Amino acid sequence: MNRHPSDPDHLVPGVLWRWDPVGAAIPLVVDSPHNSTDWPEDFDHIVTEAELMTSVDAFVDELFGHAPTVGATLIAAQFPRAYIDPNRAEDDLDLALIDGDWPLPVNPGEKTEYGMGVVRRYILKGRPIYDRKLSVDEVMHRLEQYHRPYHAAVADAIDRAHATFGQAFHIDCHSMKPVGNAMNVDAGEPRPDMVLSNREGETCDAAFIDTAADLLRDRGYRVAINHPYKGAELVARHSDPAAGRHSLQIELNRALYMDTESFEKTAGFDALKTDLDGFLAGMAGFVREQVG
Ligand SMILES: [Zn+2]
Repeated sequence: MNRHPSDPDHLVPGVLWRWDPVGAAIPLVVDSPHNSTDWPEDFDHIVTEAELMTSVDAFVDELFGHAPTVGATLIAAQFPRAYIDPNRAEDDLDLALIDGDWPLPVNPGEKTEYGMGVVRRYILKGRPIYDRKLSVDEVMHRLEQYHRPYHAAVADAIDRAHATFGQAFHIDCHSMKPVGNAMNVDAGEPRPDMVLSNREGETCDAAFIDTAADLLRDRGYRVAINHPYKGAELVARHSDPAAGRHSLQIELNRALYMDTESFEKTAGFDALKTDLDGFLAGMAGFVREQVG
């Protein structure tokens, strides 16, 4: 699988790839936590591959593959979010899924009510992923071997950027179904081309998200801010705008670039990729101005 312009600079087998900046580095980190279709051998689920694929942000790592060329670090997951989701806090756990006494505190949120916590209960509405409870060891393994190393890699890249430049900028990249389904807060509503979010202003200064929105709208895209997505764990955990750490989340409408039934790229893919190359170059320009 050689879908990127260059071989990764760093690999945690089964967990993630990292591509370092080509040429002069800037303090920009781009991550793609949900692109993977590598199903771990111990997943032991009862759903079909097509059902699993509905949860994958397919090709998002490739769509943002220009990031290293503009001086950014790119990190992409090698494990599927249906197995363990790095965009949920590790305590966002549904204890009804667990067989035995869970040894850590839990704090299940709204997404867990929809069956979409750190370990998902449902792949689609009313469609459970398992016909069993998961053992404590099994869930602990997923946290220790996948979730925590992914976050450690993102934190490390952001910390190194911040140490060198005094500020760090982070774009957490996803894709979304064209219409919200019954497990989403916007069930039945058609979605815009892209959704940018910063948890209503908590995870980055306005200038960062406004620049992103302008660059995308200039290319003709309909961009919504903080609806229906507000931003989740990756931007919440790795941001601190007062300390110069800025994170935003971007969701791309899958209808722009893939067939949501066959999960294959469509003719729109190349045009979107070209626009995202320009978007990343524009964001790199913004970042250089901030630290210049
Ligand atoms: Zn996602």
